[in-house]
Amino acid sequence: MSEKQDQELGMCRDITRRDFLNGVALTTGSLLLPSHFLAAMTAGQDAKTPSDYYPPALTGLRGSHVGSFEVMHKLRDGAFWEEAGKPTDTGEAYDLVVVGGGISGLAAAHYFRKSAGSKAKVLVLENHDDFGGHAKRNEFRIGNRGMLGFGGTFSIESPAPYSAVAKGLIEELGIDVPSFPKYISADIYRSRGLKPSIFFDKETFGTDRLVLNPAPAWGGETRDHPDTTSEAWKTFLADAPLSDQAKHDFQRLHEEKKDYYPGLSSNEKKAKLARISYAKYLTDVIGVSPEIVKLYQAFPHPLFGVGIDAVPAQDAWGFKLPGFAGLNLDPTPGKGMNRDAIPNAEAEKYFFHFPDGNASIARLIVRSLIPEAIPGNSVTDVVTAKADYRRLDEASSPVRIRLNSTVVRVKHVGDVNNVHEVEIAYVKSGKLETVKAANCILACWHVVIPFICEDIPDKQKEALRSAQKVPLLYTNVALRNWTAFQKLGANSIYAPGCYHTGLNLDLPVSIGDYHCSQSPEDPVVVHMMKTPCKPGLPARQQHSKGRAELFNTKFESIERQIREQLARTLGPGGLDPARDIEGITVNRWPHGYAYEYNSLYDDFWFEGGEIPCEVARKPFGRLAIANSDADAYAYTDCAIDQAYRAVGEILKKPNA
Ligand SMILES: Cc1cc2nc3c(=O)[nH]c(=O)nc-3n(C[C@H](O)[C@H](O)[C@H](O)COP(=O)(O)OP(=O)(O)OC[C@H]3O[C@@H](n4cnc5c(N)ncnc54)[C@H](O)[C@@H]3O)c2cc1C
Repeated sequence: MSEKQDQELGMCRDITRRDFLNGVALTTGSLLLPSHFLAAMTAGQDAKTPSDYYPPALTGLRGSHVGSFEVMHKLRDGAFWEEAGKPTDTGEAYDLVVVGGGISGLAAAHYFRKSAGSKAKVLVLENHDDFGGHAKRNEFRIGNRGMLGFGGTFSIESPAPYSAVAKGLIEELGIDVPSFPKYISADIYRSRGLKPSIFFDKETFGTDRLVLNPAPAWGGETRDHPDTTSEAWKTFLADAPLSDQAKHDFQRLHEEKKDYYPGLSSNEKKAKLARISYAKYLTDVIGVSPEIVKLYQAFPHPLFGVGIDAVPAQDAWGFKLPGFAGLNLDPTPGKGMNRDAIPNAEAEKYFFHFPDGNASIARLIVRSLIPEAIPGNSVTDVVTAKADYRRLDEASSPVRIRLNSTVVRVKHVGDVNNVHEVEIAYVKSGKLETVKAANCILACWHVVIPFICEDIPDKQKEALRSAQKVPLLYTNVALRNWTAFQKLGANSIYAPGCYHTGLNLDLPVSIGDYHCSQSPEDPVVVHMMKTPCKPGLPARQQHSKGRAELFNTKFESIERQIREQLARTLGPGGLDPARDIEGITVNRWPHGYAYEYNSLYDDFWFEGGEIPCEVARKPFGRLAIANSDADAYAYTDCAIDQAYRAVGEILKKPNA
């Protein structure tokens, strides 16, 4: 890309991200500071948290930001202990130390206190500069208006109904899920004729073109079959830059009711579908043009972080993707189906989205643990409440949350079967410190545990290691207005060939003093999603290569991709990225969703056998294991359920 093109895209414009190097606040002056001072800053908040310490307002590269992962990577590479020196014993002792301040870790602290009493001493150690884990809040200021975005966990939703335990916590926090319709302005986009659309890019489809999406299930919004006689359908077939053959195949795919596996029972057919990818089913069984595969390729990205090359056809059937109408399959879920692909009407109704996503849940739990840290007392006021990070880690409080603290070792002090103390070592601001606890809950990512708990049995370590997370980018772009969306008639855009394969105007939710963008002239946050997958490889390999890509891509390259994609997609509607972009926050999640089992690659999931997450989550001595990895299910209800189980295991121990 030439300098002139960069200028046209606004790469040099002084938006908020220019004040941040990879998500870390650096003023021009600070660039002149000595490197050790810089290192301390990037390692996180210092012993005394400054009054302006406020991570949600940071822009640039967030998610797993610079400063959050380096210590852990050194430990992984075997290079940590030789340089570490002797730890300093803080002298602190707790009833419970929780490793990981995501929703699972915070819920574990909550449940433990409920049973052990409000005087129980609890410490939560978290390696990021904010609490909440994937439930991350992004704030923007556009003119004099504050806007919110979700940097990760989007909403209360789950393919299966929330358990009584998870629902119980949501209710205890005061969230009335059925009241959600009163907060959403469902008509803001619809009344202006904005609809889901598809962007065909010239590299993949020969030309850049925005076309009405006739079957928004591609954007993951509905599981209904499209009406192939509708105007939307005709418009799509007229406008889509697909060959005649592909259009013909497309129509056939949706209308034909052919049994591609004659003579087989429903179960036998499902078994075949469980072992073939949807991409192969489309080309090798139904015989459609490869253009159709390109069109559907990115459909499962938001759920699985891979394309249809790595998603079983049986799961595609569950999502009501086309090609199965003539198979006469019994509607019950088949063996090896992913839980995401099993429709459940009750679960679909249980939905709530805060403007900062489930970060509001994390903030509500923190408020219940440390009331001084989050002012206010209602679910509606939490949305605009400004957290006081100085109050999170005070010696006078029974519950403390210590941020920027990477746990590097958790070990029993004595014989694992007959011991009442655990020592936890962590690095904060470059210093190695220890605390002691009667119990420890590991609510961090499972892949981390074998590195920090050497004593765990090998078989369990292997199971923990198999929980390879799914990498993702959740990008928020603050725009001056959304008139270009209005002109083009689009509110969400599926872009199967682009860097970010999904692009959505913010879900218009107003809660308490927070008001969503009401008119196209108002500022708005646009959400973009990318999964760095590598089609053709088995899912876990795609994730591991994608993770490396995310760690190795500079913010500047991602920013250029964002600007270029917005210019190409929305430029025809008048969007000028150099003029209209007011802020960018890229939430990089190299360790994103919990890995969910896949009947193409995980034989045990299809054929039966030991399930790795069940082996991985076994308690060990005074340690219990939580996190959404513990049930291989990438949802908040799982994070809560697993915290509840882990606390139950701890409480069964003598002298808990
Ligand atoms: C981009 C994205 C979008 C999502 N959207 C949704 C959604 O809409 N709805 C939904 O239900 N679920 C969603 N999820 C799934 C989400 O993972 C869960 O809902 C839930 O937030 C997971 O909580 P957790 O506490 O189990 O894990 P996490 O949130 O990952 O928390 C674990 C924490 O442990 C920390 N940690 C790791 N190692 C260490 C260490 N050595 N020392 C200290 N701390 C450590 C991590 O940094 C992390 O903060 C989404 C996930 C992602 C990545």
